[in-house]
Amino acid sequence: MHFKLLITLFVISPSLIIFGQASVYLDPGASIDKRVNDLLSKMTIEEKVGQMTQADHKAILNLDDVTNYYLGSVLSGGGSDPASGNTPIAWTNLYDSLQQKALQSRLKIPIISGIDAVHGHNNVIGATVFPHNIGMGATRNPDLIESAARVSAIEIAATGIHWTFAPCIAVPRDERWGRTYEGFGETAELAVLFAPAAVRGYQTDSLNSPTSIAACAKHFVGDGGTLYGKDQGDTQIAEEELRRIHLPGYIAAIKSDVKTIMASYNSWNGIKLHGHSYLINEVLKAELGFTGFVVSDWAAIDQIPGDYTSDVEISINAGIDMVMVPSDYEIFFNTLLVLVNQNKISMDRINDAVTRILRVKFELGLFENPLVDRSLLPLIGSEEHREVARQCVRESQVLLKLNDNVLPLPKENIKVLVAGDHADNIGLQTGGWTIEWLGKSGNITEGTSILQGLRKVAPNVDFIYSADGKFDITDADYAIAVVGEEPYAEGSGDRDDLYLDKDQTKMVRNLKNMGVPVITILISGRPIIINSVLHNSDALFASWLPGTESDGIAEIIFGDFEPKGVLPISWPKSMEQIPLNYGDKDYDPLFAYGFGITEYKNSEIGSAPILNSAMLSEDRMYIDLSFNKSMKNIEISETELFVVNNYLNPIKVQNYKLSKICDNNIIVRLNESIDEASRLSISYKQGNLSSKDGGKLDQFNNVEVIISD
Ligand code: BGC
Ligand code: BGC
Repeated sequence: MHFKLLITLFVISPSLIIFGQASVYLDPGASIDKRVNDLLSKMTIEEKVGQMTQADHKAILNLDDVTNYYLGSVLSGGGSDPASGNTPIAWTNLYDSLQQKALQSRLKIPIISGIDAVHGHNNVIGATVFPHNIGMGATRNPDLIESAARVSAIEIAATGIHWTFAPCIAVPRDERWGRTYEGFGETAELAVLFAPAAVRGYQTDSLNSPTSIAACAKHFVGDGGTLYGKDQGDTQIAEEELRRIHLPGYIAAIKSDVKTIMASYNSWNGIKLHGHSYLINEVLKAELGFTGFVVSDWAAIDQIPGDYTSDVEISINAGIDMVMVPSDYEIFFNTLLVLVNQNKISMDRINDAVTRILRVKFELGLFENPLVDRSLLPLIGSEEHREVARQCVRESQVLLKLNDNVLPLPKENIKVLVAGDHADNIGLQTGGWTIEWLGKSGNITEGTSILQGLRKVAPNVDFIYSADGKFDITDADYAIAVVGEEPYAEGSGDRDDLYLDKDQTKMVRNLKNMGVPVITILISGRPIIINSVLHNSDALFASWLPGTESDGIAEIIFGDFEPKGVLPISWPKSMEQIPLNYGDKDYDPLFAYGFGITEYKNSEIGSAPILNSAMLSEDRMYIDLSFNKSMKNIEISETELFVVNNYLNPIKVQNYKLSKICDNNIIVRLNESIDEASRLSISYKQGNLSSKDGGKLDQFNNVEVIISD
């Protein structure tokens, strides 16, 4: 270099000079390829290995380790919040303190810090929390997902974090899986629709702008396809199916230039993904042309058969570029170093991994702006951001059942019972991956509970709340029951039994027995076996895990907006039907993929009444038939409406009556109590049955009688 130029450069920017030579990598004007190559050429093997190491910040007991091990990345795992408290400013300080340590290293390579911001910046108290992905899938609205990801990116960037481990584009094929809610739904179609939208929202088309962050499509690949829905299990399917169901989301994400992809804990036909060279090196990188970097999952390389040394060797050679260690980073660092020195991992492989990582860091502008832009802090949890989340809540509501004259509720002159723990509990409505890894019941962050939302949207309505659903009120007009799952994450949410808690089922029945129309809101990360709750509800919403802005639900109930959501996942009738997916042979769900009532309207006057469901009473002495509208007092015989046991033996009926509790229901009293093993079905031959408005009931055959649970 010309001497004069060198002097000028030195005067302008001393940091551009290292060891007396101009450093292209520190020149923002140079091309990214040049900067990467220049930096790579200056790095020692230790510095390279450090770039490939990601530690959880809680495991870094001595901050100097960031400098001394040249850590490439630090993450905050679920619930891994700053020691000085969970406030936005504490997060910002934590991040800056880590970054300052990285900048003290010889080459001053900034760290990239990552976090599981999977439905908003969900670890941070006060951030906007969106519905989990399953609810987003119900909206079928990629623009909205993009807006949500944009808002999340701004809040994440406000705390100095440049990378979110999202979107999860798993295609959950078995609702027993505890991560079902992290995926957009059971088809590749939904992953393909939403992956690009989310990536665009996080990354935008200028990754180095102050509010853009790197996205991470996860978990590659087949995480949603494991046998029995077991978390981290084995996906035993042919390559054709892997490619048809689980791969398309990645193809779409790569087309949208997703910068990182996380490998999955699961195996494919017995081989752990983290050691799967064919899928990572050949399919993901060579065939699909993915140029970003592959990060491992949390300590996932440890699950590869063999000792730790072979875990490191196999995973890096399979194409993992950065390892989420997350705690024993010294051991990982030293092991990888030895493997390189022994030529068990080639220098080319190391250079490839480091090139991929550095490229993303340069693209993010980390070398120019390593520290936090604190001016963004006031945007965390801002009203404008919450409004985007509220819109997601509105659009994600899936109305599964609606009888005549129930919704929308009037905003004046009514008394409404609101029942259930889930009605007034932010933690239950936000679910897993909120403040804590597993989520937590209670007032865990700022937001609007469902009950608060109802009161806000309809201030002139008299709401009476009871967590256990017990009321001594006889003049209520409606009841809103809020039932659902408790929070969980990952394997802790794997279930063989997807029934609702008995107390909740009973609560809904008791409300129905009070003689008021019951509107049920189901808070869950997946379909639940709800036959009896559904039977006893006049309207039922699958509300998923709505996040912090639950007034969006109230706005639907009171008709400020009509429901729009449709099912992103098939709804089973029973546990025996699971796994149940759209396109299955003999597909016979309770509600099909894509179903959702999207209009508030009563049936036409004089139209045939519709039988919603038939349920056997608890004492197994009568069958309750529930219709969509009021029925007329009836004169009917056993040749018209008849019950059959096990599809063969007729059951004698004592009488038929209109229910005293609700005239949408007809009670069929049996002559005998039905034993547990019997399966009843009921049929109707055209006869005298009609609705109050004169609609004649059409005949039906062998409708299965559900058992009260
Ligand atoms: C999960 C990932 C997550 C990572 C970091 C793992 O247990 O499988 O989805 O990104 O932890 O918290
Ligand atoms: C971490 C999570 C991680 C999980 C994996 C937890 O301790 O907080 O981020 O996903 O472990 O098992």
